[in-house]
Amino acid sequence: MAAFDFDLFVLGVGSGGVRAARMSAGYGARVATAEAVHMGGTCVNVGCIPKKLYVYGAHFAADFEDARAYGWDAPIPDIDWATLKRNKDVEIKRLNGIYGGLLDQAGVTHFDGRAVLVDAHTVAIGEKRVTAEKILVATGSKPFVQDIPGKEYLSTSDDAFALETLPRRVLVLGGGYIAVEFAGIFAGLGVETTLAYRGPKLLRGFDEDIRDMMDAAVQHQGIKLSLNTTLNSVQRVASGALSAEFADGSKTEFDFILAATGRTPNSADLGLEALGVAMSDNGAIIVDQDFRTSVPHIYALGDVIDRFQLTPVAIKEAMVFAANAFAGGKQSMNYDLIATAVFCQPNVGVVGLTEKEAQDAGHKTQIFRSKFRPLKHTLTGRNEQSLMKLVVDAESDRVLGIHMIGAEAGEIIQGFAAAMTAGVTKAQLDQTVGIHPTAAEEFVTMREPVAQA
Ligand code: NDP
Repeated sequence: MAAFDFDLFVLGVGSGGVRAARMSAGYGARVATAEAVHMGGTCVNVGCIPKKLYVYGAHFAADFEDARAYGWDAPIPDIDWATLKRNKDVEIKRLNGIYGGLLDQAGVTHFDGRAVLVDAHTVAIGEKRVTAEKILVATGSKPFVQDIPGKEYLSTSDDAFALETLPRRVLVLGGGYIAVEFAGIFAGLGVETTLAYRGPKLLRGFDEDIRDMMDAAVQHQGIKLSLNTTLNSVQRVASGALSAEFADGSKTEFDFILAATGRTPNSADLGLEALGVAMSDNGAIIVDQDFRTSVPHIYALGDVIDRFQLTPVAIKEAMVFAANAFAGGKQSMNYDLIATAVFCQPNVGVVGLTEKEAQDAGHKTQIFRSKFRPLKHTLTGRNEQSLMKLVVDAESDRVLGIHMIGAEAGEIIQGFAAAMTAGVTKAQLDQTVGIHPTAAEEFVTMREPVAQA
């Protein structure tokens, strides 16, 4: 008789939890999972997937306009939000089923409901109690909302995905991924959109050349950009609108206020504190390179450890965890070259070091840069600019960072991220024959550095 009901119990079946459960089961472990909210977690239900569908939906506005310059003479149609929302919901339901099916096929036992640890090896899901030798916490994160008067009127990205009608006037708070992506979605769908950020430039942490272009890119989409702006309070007024009061004393009315001000780990009330699982001040579970917490048989990965809140990172972490915990692996997670994209209009895609990070790390750098109007817009007249940038180590010729703002930057950067993982040098990019005419060919045709330091 086994001492425990399961070898592994996974709390949360988001991107990381599902992959860890399936891989561990594949290695022969007896695995159980539990999920309190959505099968598939944030990414599938209230994150990457519905966001990308809404980004596609919003982009048609520009496509219809641009089509005219290509001879398509038709009136610009209206968006039927209810159709987009319904089709998005249907697709997510389908994905929920696929995720459930993946667990079934792997032989994982799944429990619907919130799981909490009642002792070191016992998990309670409602009245049900099961035991497991190892526990994996993959409970993800939730939106952080500022504590200001009228906080109850602030909505989150979860609420934005659930909107049944499209608001007329939206205020988006924040200057990171979710803020610029959702501002772009709302503006594309014809909503009067204001983006208010507390700092001087959007996308803190990204390369300065990208950041310098973001303001114009955002405004070009018809978004009203308000930098160095802090929201002090919100009130509901007689008309039903939300009146936002800013630190400079100004007041503006909106119908929906989206707080896109970061996400905090979902680590509270899981029974972890009582077991002595160490956490940082923001509730991130502290783990070692095997994703082991301060309690050796309890593990954690994904957003709840707050290293990189990105689906592909959680998936990779899960694969490392499963291989090490159940297949005698000695793998470790490499966080060095994580490519990422912001699905604003146009996209931002980056991999590796920014120019400043490279210089701060002691590299002598050569910077290559190309800024241009995409070929498509030579006919449309749309004043959209693309920027492509290489940060190169002047001594070794290794490419340290690749940055792009432009159409399909996410798609383009993924391939260059593989090249960087393989250690690509600038000379090797120069040897590569371009595909003409594409934007991506710029990365293999930049000849002279624009700066050296
Ligand atoms: P981000 O960390 O990207 O941005 C948070 C923003 O909120 C920052 O601009 C920050 O300002 C601001 N902020 C934080 N606290 C406050 C406050 N108290 N008052 C006012 N402003 C505040 O978080 P997001 O919420 O946009 O996204 C969460 C995470 O989800 C991202 O970090 C990313 O990892 C992931 N994500 C990834 C996507 C993708 O891959 N395309 C898409 C969406 C999310 P400041 O810069 O000054 O700190």
